[in-house]
Amino acid sequence: MIIGVTGSGTMGSGIAQSFASNNFKVLLHDISNDMLSKAFDTINKSLDRMINKEIITREKANSSLKNITTSTSTDIMNNCDLIIEAATENIDIKKKIFKKLDYLSKPSCILASNTSSISINELADSTNRPSMVIGMHFMNPVPIMKLVEIIKTTKTSKETLETVVNTAIKLGKKPVECIDSPGFISNRILMPMINEAIYSLMEGVATKEAIDEIMMLGMSHPMGPLTLADLIGLDVCLSILNVLKEGFNNDSKYEPCPLLIDMCKNGKLGRKTGEGFYKY
Ligand code: NAD
Repeated sequence: MIIGVTGSGTMGSGIAQSFASNNFKVLLHDISNDMLSKAFDTINKSLDRMINKEIITREKANSSLKNITTSTSTDIMNNCDLIIEAATENIDIKKKIFKKLDYLSKPSCILASNTSSISINELADSTNRPSMVIGMHFMNPVPIMKLVEIIKTTKTSKETLETVVNTAIKLGKKPVECIDSPGFISNRILMPMINEAIYSLMEGVATKEAIDEIMMLGMSHPMGPLTLADLIGLDVCLSILNVLKEGFNNDSKYEPCPLLIDMCKNGKLGRKTGEGFYKY
């Protein structure tokens, strides 16, 4: 099975690494050469950490890297069996990508999106193969996190669902299904919590460290909501809240906190830019 991944940022690089480490050939595409080199660097460093922790051998790391080919041209993906879109969380960008992938990929290729919140139905409708479009929502950091949220539309075929579920299992992941609804399950529940944590910080109810510590020690969360927001990317959190708000008839409970909006305007997007709620 040949896997295509388009978008090589935080998620695309992790998805490519997970497939490559499980003996799949991966074609990794991005519009930016810089992002592709950064992705290769990230994957290299992640594999090095696994060698140091004696999780994998140097030979395994080398063979994983050899399984990945990078390019700024989508043409390399015309022979893929499954393409996972992991580009910027923006509906217009994603619709254009799906249209293009539908045109260039072979008829039997499944098109999946790693979107956190955008409607899979809308993406499917921008192709001529809606029965072969599905959501495959990986968690960050992909090589470590076990869950893949699988999002079915009313048009997703049984065969598409089965192939994607079995592929996730081959990656050592646990696929869990839900239907297409704003934010699916994971972000519908997570984002209002992160947003509320940002409101608490903005209103001076507690320091960022205290907010994180309360949620870690009190609720057994492995990391606090502000640390998690930095890991996800504040721009990604903002986009998801906007999709939730729009998807649920402008319900004010999804109104993005003004502090989150300001931080995004100022380019403080979390780990990926070196600063968010914390400095990296
Ligand atoms: P990111 O900003 O790190 O990376 C996005 C990448 O997409 C960039 O490298 C950019 O150059 C590329 N891109 C932009 N337009 C493109 C195009 N037309 N064709 C190909 N590549 C293009 O974003 P990310 O955090 O990796 O998020 C990617 C997707 O994964 C989003 O849909 C996001 O909602 C979802 N997601 C993110 C997380 C997270 O924790 N960050 C978790 C789960 C899902």
